Amino acid sequence: MNERAAKREVESSVSLEITSSASPAANPDVVVVGAGSAGIAAARRLLASGVTVTVLEARDRIGGRTLTRPFKGHPVDLGAHWLHAGPINPLVRLGFARREPLRRAPVDGHVFVRGRPGSRAESAALDRAFAMADRAMTQGAKAREDQPASRVLPPMGPQGRRVAAIHGLVSGRPLDEVSLHDFPSMEYADNLFIAGGLGAYVARLARGLPIRLGAAVHSVDWSRQGVKVESSAGTLHAKAVIVTTPMAVLQQDAVRFAPALPKAVEQAIHGFTQGVYEHVLLHWPDSPFRGADRLASLTGTHREPPGLLTCIDNTPFHFFELDQPAAARFDRRDAHAPYRYAREVLAEHFGHRAIRNLTALHSTAWRNDPWSRASWAVVPPGLYAIRDRLKAPVGERIWFAGEALSRAQWGTAGGAWEEGERAAGEVVAGLTGLRSAG
Ligand SMILES: Cc1cc2nc3c(=O)[nH]c(=O)nc-3n(C[C@H](O)[C@H](O)[C@H](O)COP(=O)(O)OP(=O)(O)OC[C@H]3O[C@@H](n4cnc5c(N)ncnc54)[C@H](O)[C@@H]3O)c2cc1C
Repeated sequence: MNERAAKREVESSVSLEITSSASPAANPDVVVVGAGSAGIAAARRLLASGVTVTVLEARDRIGGRTLTRPFKGHPVDLGAHWLHAGPINPLVRLGFARREPLRRAPVDGHVFVRGRPGSRAESAALDRAFAMADRAMTQGAKAREDQPASRVLPPMGPQGRRVAAIHGLVSGRPLDEVSLHDFPSMEYADNLFIAGGLGAYVARLARGLPIRLGAAVHSVDWSRQGVKVESSAGTLHAKAVIVTTPMAVLQQDAVRFAPALPKAVEQAIHGFTQGVYEHVLLHWPDSPFRGADRLASLTGTHREPPGLLTCIDNTPFHFFELDQPAAARFDRRDAHAPYRYAREVLAEHFGHRAIRNLTALHSTAWRNDPWSRASWAVVPPGLYAIRDRLKAPVGERIWFAGEALSRAQWGTAGGAWEEGERAAGEVVAGLTGLRSAG
């Protein structure tokens, strides 16, 4: 896709946010809370089965933690960007079926040591450390007792610390806060990207859905037949509700359930910790990186950023990634702190001359956003069962869905999609059963 086509794509996805809220049903069969990947997938599945649905979305836009915005005329993802686990990712399957502009992510990254390109031996040493860590974690996860994922890593010196930092970044928390049983269930092989941005793609998939924007749900009453869903946009009665609100938002009691949810469900919701992963968007025309969409590993200095995605879509844009420990250092009132940090770290590696035309354009703060409060949900050691515990419906009329429930694709847009479809499929089966019984 050329730049002009990509720009048109973003513009149409932005206007879609306004037009897709057409004609939501007044008293639908099903209410879906949230118009992110899970909510959009659920609504599509319900409509395809002839079930009426209204999606209530708190924000004034769709997409949740997928969001593409134009910067200097180019579409850039501020939330999810990678389509992980290609062979099992429903967004990839659907993308190929729709002839979406998918492309494979390069598998070879860059290794830089104190600002100079790493040697073949240095790259191979990092690859070996990854392979050793993966083997140790896959093996360790077979033990009956769960434990922190960090505990089973073999001593591998600086390379080992690097591998742990990268796994900590993609997990959303340092590995000593992540369940070993949960960790290897994540599939990272065979990644893809999509021209025009993943947020714009998800927005395209919402075209024509009955979504009401600016409708923050604050209570779900299931004390009688069906459900009564109250939001800032009014009250809806339905036979069932699918709640795709992020776990970290539910933990704040943003949605009150009456009667209260069963204890086991409450405990599962409160068991997750907040995964933190933020992009500092850089525009860096003279960056030293070659080739598009490659991950860079910068080593050999005092501060080693755990992630850098370079020359995104063959442009001067780069993502400097912040992991949880880095993000936790910033005062939320100082919006420029992440920019300064990214510049300082890159100057440390490449020198001040190399970054003179580097501009930091945006820094995400999903962890502070009241409608996400985290980048994704993380399972701490010992709580492996909580994802599955949320899959059972409450009172045969409240279903939960979203990235937090996915076993093999946790923390991803593809996992959220999969879970939205699962919940909707179960609702349809329940409603069909009800109809034939009636
Ligand atoms: C910076 C960043 C980078 C990421 N990178 C990737 C990546 O490369 N690849 C990948 O696959 N995943 C990535 N992720 C994770 C991915 O974005 C999420 O896992 C996925 O989008 C979650 O989808 P969801 O439907 O479960 O939740 P959401 O997308 O959060 O959707 C939930 C919706 O519910 C709405 N809502 C919340 N509360 C209420 C309420 N009370 N009433 C009504 N509506 C409400 C929210 O506004 C939101 O629209 C990334 C996330 C971040 C933040």
